Amino acid sequence: MPATHEVTNQPPPLEGYDVFGADAALMEAVEREGAGWAVDDLHALGRLAGSPEAIGWGFDANRFPPELRTHDGYGHRVDEVTYHPAYHELMRVAVSHGLHGAPWAVDQPGAHVARAAGFVTWSQVEAGHGCPISMTYSIVPALRTQPDLAGEWEARLVARAYDPRNVAAREKPGVLAGMGMTEKQGGSDVRANTTRAERTAGGGDVDGDRGMWRLTGHKWFCSAPMSDVFLMLAQAPAGLTCFLVPRWLPDGERNSGFRIMRLKDKLGNRSNASSEIELDGALALLVGEEGRGVRTIIDMVAHTRLDCVLGATATMRQATAQALHHAAHRAAFGSTLVDQPLMRVVLADLAVESEAATVTAMHLARAFDEAARGDEGADALRRIATAVGKYWTCKREPTHVGEALECLGGNGYVEESIMPRLFRESPLNGIWEGSGNVICLDVLRAMAREPVALEVFLSEIDAARGADRRLDDAVAGVRHELGDLVGIEARARRVVEAMALALQGSLLVRYGHPAVADAFCASRLSGEEGLALGTLPPGLDLGSIIERSHPKVA
Ligand SMILES: Cc1cc2nc3c(=O)[nH]c(=O)nc-3n(C[C@H](O)[C@H](O)[C@H](O)COP(=O)(O)OP(=O)(O)OC[C@H]3O[C@@H](n4cnc5c(N)ncnc54)[C@H](O)[C@@H]3O)c2cc1C
Repeated sequence: MPATHEVTNQPPPLEGYDVFGADAALMEAVEREGAGWAVDDLHALGRLAGSPEAIGWGFDANRFPPELRTHDGYGHRVDEVTYHPAYHELMRVAVSHGLHGAPWAVDQPGAHVARAAGFVTWSQVEAGHGCPISMTYSIVPALRTQPDLAGEWEARLVARAYDPRNVAAREKPGVLAGMGMTEKQGGSDVRANTTRAERTAGGGDVDGDRGMWRLTGHKWFCSAPMSDVFLMLAQAPAGLTCFLVPRWLPDGERNSGFRIMRLKDKLGNRSNASSEIELDGALALLVGEEGRGVRTIIDMVAHTRLDCVLGATATMRQATAQALHHAAHRAAFGSTLVDQPLMRVVLADLAVESEAATVTAMHLARAFDEAARGDEGADALRRIATAVGKYWTCKREPTHVGEALECLGGNGYVEESIMPRLFRESPLNGIWEGSGNVICLDVLRAMAREPVALEVFLSEIDAARGADRRLDDAVAGVRHELGDLVGIEARARRVVEAMALALQGSLLVRYGHPAVADAFCASRLSGEEGLALGTLPPGLDLGSIIERSHPKVA
């Protein structure tokens, strides 16, 4: 039989490469921000992330989403979510590389930076499983406010052992954590929580003098419900309070008041089970001071917000890599796409956005690192700059991924390219852990309550003063916006956007590749770019930007 046609001009799959090693901006940041000691491990993780096997796990974990089994065949409640084996492989790798907690287990400068780079690298394979990884990483600082509970749980939370069995935590070498704040009547406004907490009689044998509590109510979003332990907010007599809710009790029985009602049918993030749960007298332990629940859980939220920035960075890097790879192998109208003048502007613009996110994310990770080591200035910076960075990188993510998808033409709209999955994932980082408006209002709150945080932020964006006039003007613009507080709530998005662009510009001018910094200042800071990506002004060194961002397959 004669063949109907020959397959030509289709790019090979982007696989068999080192995801970390192909990312110049990320590698430079790791060295600069103090985690040079981690590069061997990061290259190993990067090679795994670029392997056909791991890429396949990412696809399978989403093609075969988790399923909830509420009861067994005999009518007993089991509240069990089952996952495809590919999901477990993704989790096993993440945990074995310490992405869920290594910085808390080692006293090493740069540990949060190393973990951040690992998270950015590995999340490019699959984003959904990053949710429990992130929550487990983030629970530790909040739990430390209650040293007895930290003493009981921390070693297993940071252990590099993934154990997905549905058994009591005490039987496991390693455990995972989740969190329950959002309820039907309010997610951003957690003070509207209606879940009640009542002290039980005679629980002292389990929880010393503080006794045990019973929670009654519901949570409207509770991701990774197979986690071993959760931090949840509930109304105690003294007000909104933080509790630790184990899925199994210390006596080896299920915490039977914890019921998974159903799983959400979501736009994306499909490998990750997000559930609705009911609490019918679920046993819980007090964390921190009664009535100070928001204050206690905010330490957890601060870290998951960092991971939103890392997640957005990972998605934009993967989208950029796919677009560059496709354009380098696809020809149209007689020449390769990557050589066509208009496509070069689009690709370079995508790369600039991705590098701006990378430099921001990794500098934030350093602030977390230094804050954890007692540096008050870094702590103030991370307080305000995490919210600023989260707002802007998450705002850019869907626009960026949509544009990258278009670079692949029709292939980008088809599931076998990773692009539809990246696109569906792209709005999520902007929603959870503080949606756009809420994050902007949080920046205003941080400035009002902690003036030192604003001072530290302003000196950070001022640190490159004199190096680039466009950046100097942008910093002056931020000061101008902040100089007049009238109507600032309605202007919060303008203010935070200006702060984010000045931060990214300052970091790129100081630490980035000169061609990337120049393109960023010429477009994002001087107002010379159009509203769509791919409208960089003329005269920029697009070749250098594209060359350094292009993922080289050995
Ligand atoms: C896939 C997924 C997984 C999730 N997993 C979890 C989980 O594990 N645990 C958990 O606790 N939650 C989880 N959430 C919930 C998430 O954190 C909330 O959806 C989010 O915080 C927003 O809350 P909400 O849905 O109640 O929206 P609302 O709070 O009603 O907000 C709606 C909109 O109004 C805006 N808004 C709110 N207040 C103001 C204001 N004062 N001024 C101007 N605008 C305002 C918000 O920015 C938002 O755009 C998850 C959500 C998703 C999508």
